[in-house]
Amino acid sequence: MRTPAEDREQMILYQLESRDIRDQLVLDAFLKVERHLFVPPELRSFAYDDVPLPIGWGQTISQPYVVAKMTELLALGKQDRVLEIGTGSGYQAAILAELAGEVYTIELVPELHRRAQELLERLGYTNIRAICGDGYLGYPEAAPYDAVIVTAAPPTLPENLVSQLRTGGTLVIPVGESEQTLIRATKNGDGTTSQERIFPVIFVPMKHGL
Ligand code: SAH
Repeated sequence: MRTPAEDREQMILYQLESRDIRDQLVLDAFLKVERHLFVPPELRSFAYDDVPLPIGWGQTISQPYVVAKMTELLALGKQDRVLEIGTGSGYQAAILAELAGEVYTIELVPELHRRAQELLERLGYTNIRAICGDGYLGYPEAAPYDAVIVTAAPPTLPENLVSQLRTGGTLVIPVGESEQTLIRATKNGDGTTSQERIFPVIFVPMKHGL
């Protein structure tokens, strides 16, 4: 039996470095954050596998590679303020918190929000603010953000999220309905965005709040 730390080394080698993750700070964050604590206890033995896993309420924690790719695309700096939509397990938020200054993360499902908030607090993250609410609204209270990451898929780019990004800021988001594409959008001075298509992805749909 390997220890969780050994599992993380293998995950980094065979899932991240062997693909195209090169940012050493991102790799270091993956070595540090204990992914097995973010999955349901009965699925812990699969926590470091190359797959997404169910976390309850019909939601999933993304495959490690997808979390790493999205994180690398944000190119975060130590002082950056980041907004995440879709807290889910809190794993992506923890990875972001290792790399950025402040992380704001919004979750629609109250039970998931509460569970992630408790875990992140227990792990000692003081630079994560977890909010229960509708991510379509963003979180104007702390805008503008240097980066926005969305981990559920809306049919089109949500306007509020673009407007809460600073000029030159980066948005990484899966967009589409039955077929989704991971997009990196950079905000221009005139409020428009320049977009790059990264690759096809499968995310849970971003839902509208009640
Ligand atoms: N980043 C997560 C994975 C998230 S799965 C992790 O690391 O585990 C997508 C999450 O987005 C789900 O928890 C879902 O409930 C949430 N979600 C869907 N629509 C949303 C919305 N409009 N606002 C906020 N969260 C939303």
